Amino acid sequence: MNVNFCSLSSGSSGNCYYLGNEFHGILIDAGISATSIRKFLKDMDITMQTIMGVLITHNHIDHIRGLEILTRKNSIPAFTTHKIWESILTPQRKISRDCIREIPLQQKFHLAGFDIEAFPVCHDAPETVGFHICSGEKKITIATDLGHICQTAAPYIKEANLLVIESNYDEQMLVNGSYPHYLKARIQSDHGHLGNHQTSVFLADIINDSLSHICLAHLSKNNNTPEKALQTLHRTFSERGINLNGQQIISILNRHIPSEIIRLVE
Ligand SMILES: [Zn+2]
Ligand SMILES: [Zn+2]
Repeated sequence: MNVNFCSLSSGSSGNCYYLGNEFHGILIDAGISATSIRKFLKDMDITMQTIMGVLITHNHIDHIRGLEILTRKNSIPAFTTHKIWESILTPQRKISRDCIREIPLQQKFHLAGFDIEAFPVCHDAPETVGFHICSGEKKITIATDLGHICQTAAPYIKEANLLVIESNYDEQMLVNGSYPHYLKARIQSDHGHLGNHQTSVFLADIINDSLSHICLAHLSKNNNTPEKALQTLHRTFSERGINLNGQQIISILNRHIPSEIIRLVE
């Protein structure tokens, strides 16, 4: 079955991704308002009735901003681990109890025609996961908030045909920028975010012919630009003698505008 992927929004102001087949779809994170999610999906002729669930990576607001309304108004089930639910379910947050679904780490579950596995990543939230999602032979990995690529996460990332991976900050922009020292240290730490250089070096190590699409995601508003992220990737690849030869399609996901639909054909 063919699979369509679209980033509705990606960055430190809000993250939400759509993955669908010809019958159903799922969302990964709900970090923008439910109104925006509905509108962006409608623009693609996708109705909320076809959305079978939303997978949640962690409790930071740029990943759960629209979750209350999605569960209360649209009754969309939300899937994440016990520990992440504990961190999300504060008395102030009115998540519909009927929509809470707990999933174990590193165990496949089935939803909307996809086999899905949550894997742990290192980030400064009570727990944070990436998702490895399979449809037939096609494998999609989404890893957007991680300070480094740990040994547990790496195999899920290496297997992807479509990889959505963080390229959060340009190292020079962050160091020279106006953020206070503690915040710079937090972002650069092993539990913060991936910088352009870090991501590029990792990609240069794992690049292979079955990795057909690379989406650089979760770019910082203040410490990065799409041009810098792309330049760093190309420079690192060229330093390593890697010639892309048109085998891989590389996209930079926009912070506020939905991406083109990426179609993986079986
Ligand atoms: Zn984030
Ligand atoms: Zn985060």
